Amino acid sequence: MALLEIKNLHVALEDGTEIVKGVDLTVDTNQVHAVMGPNGSGKSTLAYALMGHPAYVITEGEILIDGDNVTESGADARAHRGLFLAFQYPHAVPGVTVTSFLRSAINATRKARAGGKEDPVPIPEFRKELLAQMDRLKVSRELASRYLNEGFSGGEKKRVEILQMAMLKPRIAVLDETDSGLDIDALRIVAEGVQNLIGPEMGALVITHYQRILNFLTPDFVHVFVGGRIVEEGGPELAQKLEREGYEAFTPAEVVEA
Ligand code: ADP
Ligand code: MG
Repeated sequence: MALLEIKNLHVALEDGTEIVKGVDLTVDTNQVHAVMGPNGSGKSTLAYALMGHPAYVITEGEILIDGDNVTESGADARAHRGLFLAFQYPHAVPGVTVTSFLRSAINATRKARAGGKEDPVPIPEFRKELLAQMDRLKVSRELASRYLNEGFSGGEKKRVEILQMAMLKPRIAVLDETDSGLDIDALRIVAEGVQNLIGPEMGALVITHYQRILNFLTPDFVHVFVGGRIVEEGGPELAQKLEREGYEAFTPAEVVEA
């Protein structure tokens, strides 16, 4: 039984426009899957639908986590099952510091895992882990006491997201264009931070337009995503081919719909 199974997934916008048109994808722990496609192909729509965003309507197909159907589950329930989405455009949360946000997120997960009973992480344990992860991801101490994402640079937002991932220890990490807006050093830290979490406890779905994040985060499987569908699949060599040749070869007339 696979960790995450996406079966014949169709996703529409609230006005009924179908964006994702039948996706089949299976992600297991120990694996990095890259979904690569041009802008507007529906990659973020796929990510939001996986996470249970209410504006993206699943009209057909299903999403399974550990064999359980979560297609109808809310975002919270999916998160508690271990699904984590790093957003393309993280939101600011005024009045909530990075530290308190992380502690609440961890405690919510712990509560869900304890069957609804409060089970807060002991503060010293939390602090120790937070400081260790911050050092590893080169997040400045000063950032931890600031309000989440308020006035953060693009690179700071992404690092804090990976910090959140490292602290929450999800089982499936979905990264939507985590590479956009990062300079090369930040990209390396973020990508290596994710790579280090991949193992028997975690697998990742890395959604990207460009190949460059994949220089630091080696995909086991590459899925080319055009016009709301996976049109080609292969290994890491496929990402290099896309970098050289672009998506043109994968956009024949019948895929480019009005
Ligand atoms: P990608 O991430 O591959 O660039 P998106 O999933 O963001 O693609 O967008 C796919 C298409 O769906 C685009 O035409 C985009 O304008 C449209 N779209 C996505 N989300 C919304 C939304 N919330 N409201 C209106 N249109 C949307
Ligand atoms: Mg996108």
